Amino acid sequence: MTELILHHHLHRQRDFSERTFGPYSRPLRTEGAIDHIKKEVREIEANPADLEEWIDLAILSFEGALSQGYSPEAIAAALEAKQTKNENRKWPDWRSVEPGKAIEHDRTAEVLERSAYP
Ligand SMILES: [Mg+2]
Repeated sequence: MTELILHHHLHRQRDFSERTFGPYSRPLRTEGAIDHIKKEVREIEANPADLEEWIDLAILSFEGALSQGYSPEAIAAALEAKQTKNENRKWPDWRSVEPGKAIEHDRTAEVLERSAYP
């Protein structure tokens, strides 16, 4: 059900965006999305309580993926897969991380895997 709602949103966004901002194949379409994301991040920093600014960032993230040719179905599947990946990762005790800093997952296993195959 949730997946269907996301598919519907992404098809709606893609149709609106190509109609309004031009085809995703237009040169520098992705760079435009990245430039807009940087602007939205500054707006969030100025007012993190504004839900609409967070949604702007979510929409622009989808916009960037669409501009790279990913289908709504591929993006929805990637969102689901990445959430599952994050849930299965090893995370540090959040109490041990300095407040206001990114909490990164434990990469020890990944480093060991890489060093096993030089
Ligand atoms: Mg905004």
